[in-house]
Amino acid sequence: MTKQPLIVITGASSGFGAEMAKLFNAEGFPLLLLGRRIDKIKELPLNFDNVMIKQVDVTDLASFSMAITEAEAIYGQTDLLVNNAGVMLLGNIEKQSPKEWETMLNTNVLGVLNGMSIVLENMKQAHRGTIINMSSIAGFKAFTNHAAYVASKFGVHGATETIRQEVAAHNVRISLVAPGAAETELLSHTTDQEAVTNYNAWKDTMGGITLDPVHVAQAVKFIYDMPQAVNIREIDIAATQQD
Ligand code: NDP
Repeated sequence: MTKQPLIVITGASSGFGAEMAKLFNAEGFPLLLLGRRIDKIKELPLNFDNVMIKQVDVTDLASFSMAITEAEAIYGQTDLLVNNAGVMLLGNIEKQSPKEWETMLNTNVLGVLNGMSIVLENMKQAHRGTIINMSSIAGFKAFTNHAAYVASKFGVHGATETIRQEVAAHNVRISLVAPGAAETELLSHTTDQEAVTNYNAWKDTMGGITLDPVHVAQAVKFIYDMPQAVNIREIDIAATQQD
């Protein structure tokens, strides 16, 4: 069997990242799985033969970079980086702690910039490679009580398109997945209970049917599976009944 290239997934301990890990693992790709709660990654139903797990906070460029260097020394150059790690702390900015905005902007925007900056040079040299950044429908549409989250995801959209244009001539693909609401751990970190209630009421307007994280993982894989000469720049994916 041909040796498969290295895939790096941030935020692999739950939600979309965990589903991506399962999907790529089932096809035998070497994986570097990153997150802060590595115990949760170790509990995933994976074949761990060629899986490296590292405790990395994506806001920490040095440890993020070191983890990728260690994995590449064993598995070869990163062929796909999925910058998936993110947080959503809903709230009205007149009442919300600025610490929460900071956490979202640091994780959702700086984390993505960190990831791209680590792998881009080698990808350009190799004239191949793919980066998929996890944005959101909230990356191009506003929602009440989402100001800082929306700001972070609009940021992901802007940075992704900028880098795509910068590296296109090097045959490196930069792409976005922008999902709608899905059942993951994402909402559980919001401290503003009124915002949680409103979010759940909004989900009820779509018959309570949100995206299955598996389908988001499949969208990521669909982008990656295209030939290197084809860049699906963005996939917006939401439950059919989402407005
Ligand atoms: P989860 O909360 O289930 O997963 C988020 C992941 O990000 C976890 O694995 C978490 O791991 C990781 N993470 C958070 N902060 C950091 C950090 N500082 N460093 C490293 N890892 C971190 O949510 P989802 O799977 O839903 O979210 C994945 C992505 O999808 C996020 O970017 C989110 O904004 C986006 N998204 C989600 C939607 C939804 O409705 N669920 C809709 C649209 C977009 P750990 O805590 O172990 O570090």
